[in-house]
Amino acid sequence: MIYTRDGAFERYLLLPRNPDVVLVDSEVVANAPVRFLVSGMGDALSTWFEAEDCRMSQAKNMTGRTGTMTAYGLARLCFDTLMADGVAAKKACEGKTVSPELERVIEANTLLSGLGFESGGLSGAHAIHNGFTALPETHKFWHGEKVAIGTLSLLMLTKRPTDMISKVYDFCQAIGLPICLADIGLADPSDAQLMAVAAQACAPGETIHNIKGDVTPQAVLAAIKAADAEGRRRKA
Ligand SMILES: [Zn+2]
Repeated sequence: MIYTRDGAFERYLLLPRNPDVVLVDSEVVANAPVRFLVSGMGDALSTWFEAEDCRMSQAKNMTGRTGTMTAYGLARLCFDTLMADGVAAKKACEGKTVSPELERVIEANTLLSGLGFESGGLSGAHAIHNGFTALPETHKFWHGEKVAIGTLSLLMLTKRPTDMISKVYDFCQAIGLPICLADIGLADPSDAQLMAVAAQACAPGETIHNIKGDVTPQAVLAAIKAADAEGRRRKA
């Protein structure tokens, strides 16, 4: 993903070929600020939901091809790993320790999320993230933090089962990911601001159109508000 110097979304990064090697040193991750790991989990949290939307609509993945069973399976494993090991991985990172849980979450954040999104496809979480970058107030928040709000909004937009929605909010709260707009710098956003976010999320060619059926800015605006309301209700 390419941002402008100011932190607004510019375009998706599509390279002609993938790197030969992606090398991650778990010791480095364990000794880095915890916010990096948590933000990575926020990004990886979206992977399965977005891939699943693409699977349901038969939308193309990020390489312009139909996703494989393997890609969808890896995306699901990414989600399951976060749910099983995310909290313990964060604790390990706080203690600067490489634990099996941290190792598995590193694998989920990088390999599973990477393969899952590229070969499975994106839908609304990243598109809504991209919309948020239109508002300078959100620029000091990181990619995965805004993707977490994008994911919660996507769950509302696509009317996921309430127990699944609950599970995802619980997870975000347990590891300290944003769950309401105030958490990404938007304590009191106007309708016009949120409409700008929704409109950008629905720009022609955006991945949100991989969701089955028509997605309108009005529906996205309502979903963002619903996600924020649930987040604020939980914090109250
Ligand atoms: Zn991402």
